[in-house]
Amino acid sequence: MLAAPTVAGMRRRAVARAPGRVNLVGEHTDYNDGLCLPIALPQDTFARVVVRPDERIRIASAQQTSSWSGDLDGCGPGRVDGWVSYVAGVLWVLDQEGYDVPPGLDVHVAGSVPLGAGLSSSASLEVAVAVAVHALSRPLLDSGERRRLVEVCRRAETEVAGAPTGGLDQTAALLSEPDCALLLDFQDGSTTPVPLGWSAAGLELVVVDTRVSHALTAGHYGARRRECEEAARALGLASLRDAEEQGVHRLTDTTLRRRVQHVVSENARVVGVVEALSRGSWTRVGELFTASHTSLRDDFEVSCPELDLAVDTAVAAGALGARMTGGGFGGSAIALIPTDRVEAVRRAVDAAYAEAGLGPPGHLDAPASAAARVVEVSG
Ligand code: ADP
Ligand code: MG
Repeated sequence: MLAAPTVAGMRRRAVARAPGRVNLVGEHTDYNDGLCLPIALPQDTFARVVVRPDERIRIASAQQTSSWSGDLDGCGPGRVDGWVSYVAGVLWVLDQEGYDVPPGLDVHVAGSVPLGAGLSSSASLEVAVAVAVHALSRPLLDSGERRRLVEVCRRAETEVAGAPTGGLDQTAALLSEPDCALLLDFQDGSTTPVPLGWSAAGLELVVVDTRVSHALTAGHYGARRRECEEAARALGLASLRDAEEQGVHRLTDTTLRRRVQHVVSENARVVGVVEALSRGSWTRVGELFTASHTSLRDDFEVSCPELDLAVDTAVAAGALGARMTGGGFGGSAIALIPTDRVEAVRRAVDAAYAEAGLGPPGHLDAPASAAARVVEVSG
């Protein structure tokens, strides 16, 4: 048996899994110190890491034809691109943060989260790799370690993959609990499980993957972040979390005013959904989902015709509410539907897409699932 080249006691092989997520409500609020309410999905990514006796890092994915080979120094910003940068970035940030990253490592990943569908395949990939590498040298993955890995993965995506992210996806992948949503407060850093009673009430949450991703998404995301920062500055606030509905009218720029309007009302909708969930007011939950979509479409302007069609059709066919989820400009929508209406809603959405000349959307069940975990450690 080979010993790990650097660290005494390091295990030789680890496998970890990490879930994708959908955000129930609280969109484009994470980078505004606001509130979000994601759940972890049953769809996930597995990462297998095996220590090598040399100083080569090799990275491969069941979802990609290309693979990569290099060394740890070559994993940093500007040194890797494409899908490999999400994996290499995690290794690089872990190393920077003082974790034991073996200089020789085979990383193999395989996932069931649709790529680029707004269901956070990227964070599930990063988190699976981070948890697997972490398990090689540290047996304990308590909530403190999980929170540190959130930051490792957020930095990897922002600094190495070049996709600025507010941390929602990574937090959902590392801290969610089954049958619960996770209330995230980005101002005080708190995370609170919120039990979901809707399956006992005969309701299901479903995901419609539009299977479209419009160009310039990353550019739009950056533009929205800058607009929010500019609006906060103009209002003399540290972040839009502290903005109030009445103060919004002080902004002379009508675009910035609408952006703030969305962020302020969206934070209020998160609070409203949490309250409605605790009362079992499912109709109210649905109304707030649909109101969130309207706000993202009209005030934040990050929806697209395919998302609007999925949402409008789902609601017309019997969903209690529906909304786009994720960054926007494509990706996925969610709908809260009485179980006996789920098939009818899916058929209606398929028919509407066909009639509009669009390709068939994907459909996923979305029971609230567990956070990332170590599957196996050996050697
Ligand atoms: P989302 O996170 O919503 O799926 P992103 O654009 O943030 O969309 O991330 C998708 C990217 O993450 C893919 O294009 C790919 O580069 C990378 N990725 C995710 N899962 C995998 C995987 N299993 N194998 C290889 N790359 C993956
Ligand atoms: Mg992503």
